[in-house]
Amino acid sequence: MNNYVAAIDQGTTSTRCMIFDRTGSVVSVDQREHEQIFPRAGWVEHDPEEVWRNTREVCAGALAKGDLVDSDIVAVGITNQRETTVVWDRNTGKPVYNAIVWQDTRTDRIATELGALGGGQERYRAVTGLPLATYFSGPKVKWILDNVDGARAKAEAGDLLFGNMDTWVLWNATGGTDGGLHVTDPTNASRTLLMDLDTLTWNEQNAADMGIPMSMLPEIRSSSEVYGYIRQRGAFAGLPLAGILGDQQAATFGQACLTPGEAKNTYGTGNFVLLNTGTEKVMSENGLLTTVCYKIGNNETVYALEGSIAVTGALVQWLRDNLGMISSAPEIERLAAAVDDNGGAYFVPAFSGLFAPYWRSDARGAIVGLTRFVDKGHLARAVLEATAYQSREVIDAMNADSGVALKSLKVDGGMVGNELLMQFQADILGVPVIRPVVAETTALGAAYAAGLAVGFWKSEDDIRNNWAQDKQWEPRMDEAVREKQYRTWKKAVTKTFDWVE
Ligand code: ADP
Repeated sequence: MNNYVAAIDQGTTSTRCMIFDRTGSVVSVDQREHEQIFPRAGWVEHDPEEVWRNTREVCAGALAKGDLVDSDIVAVGITNQRETTVVWDRNTGKPVYNAIVWQDTRTDRIATELGALGGGQERYRAVTGLPLATYFSGPKVKWILDNVDGARAKAEAGDLLFGNMDTWVLWNATGGTDGGLHVTDPTNASRTLLMDLDTLTWNEQNAADMGIPMSMLPEIRSSSEVYGYIRQRGAFAGLPLAGILGDQQAATFGQACLTPGEAKNTYGTGNFVLLNTGTEKVMSENGLLTTVCYKIGNNETVYALEGSIAVTGALVQWLRDNLGMISSAPEIERLAAAVDDNGGAYFVPAFSGLFAPYWRSDARGAIVGLTRFVDKGHLARAVLEATAYQSREVIDAMNADSGVALKSLKVDGGMVGNELLMQFQADILGVPVIRPVVAETTALGAAYAAGLAVGFWKSEDDIRNNWAQDKQWEPRMDEAVREKQYRTWKKAVTKTFDWVE
């Protein structure tokens, strides 16, 4: 009885429910993939109703697989793919359009037009910590209101609600059209271009620029408190929903990066490096984002610097699904291990333009340095190396912004099972790379937020004590070799610029 906390992890490729015990160990997991919808080049959508169905199924599945019942669970937390935007009708509960996913680039023109109002790409930086880019939610909401028949009129009449996936799941779980709570947390809200980073409130001017009625925006609560109770019949009925953290902030929390100066890198669909900067909001001069790291109940807000990379693991998926070169993602390691190096090939996966530190929507992917010598193994290596080089670029930017060089890097996410990649990452960074025992830090972070709110964990010290190392990789590459290869990577990146006019 009452020995566990559950986390719903609504990710880009799948939805998971994970159940954790007091030591932060996983006791049960269930997972469902959802369809990736690509209606045109550069567009990426999800069906929110499919995602909600999957959410309910994985909650029931995780209970069943762990041979558990609702009363074993004390609280439920939510973590989610950030920025992905859902707009739905509060009266019917139906989305007016598919969810527009964070990687989607259709808002490029909207972003340029907003910049032209004054300030260009930096227009909203001082208030929100973000550059104007296709990545964030606000312009995606504007696109839906501009392009879906009747949407703007309904929004102005107060009938439409906006949410990221956290809000969509929470609203449905707490009753939907029958009194569902329309709530988010500051880590998600800080990814919209609509929230003031100092006050954690919606900025009316930004919303007005984008023609978004304030009535569409969810209430911003903390990341850890009891928001309400699950009213949906089925798994977890009656349990408190008590934590919300965007996936990358959840991973930072789950990795126990709770002291200023601590950082983690998550290797999933994309890569995201977050550096805890404490209660100080550091504005980037090197292409990083300033974002909310977490806000636990009434405690002061903790901020982070973030380096967001759009395509890392997604490039491995692309090799599998679009080229058929491998039949599963882990297979790439064997292919890459058949050769000693990349054979001179560099693969810059600018599929969604380039995010940090470049923020260029005009870039598109390129493989450069090809000769007849290059084979499948070299390409597999170039694919894996792209993840490590892109991570080095954002960590260099972080070192420059913070004025302190990172001494080691905690890693997590789906790709960290790839030992060849982890060794290469240590080599190309020149610092040790450390993998924790629980690599599912995203779900764990959301569980911690929920468990802290109900007193299941007493303080952040419990989180620090639970963290344990699994493996560490030491840099082995000669510095001259490292810097030469990194220079070549940077040259390869410049070849992707100015592709889209
Ligand atoms: P997300 O939470 O973004 O959906 P995950 O953390 O589940 O992602 O990681 C899945 C990603 O990791 C996929 O893009 C997949 O291609 C990649 N991946 C999984 N295992 C490996 C591996 N052994 N080597 C390389 N890439 C991998």
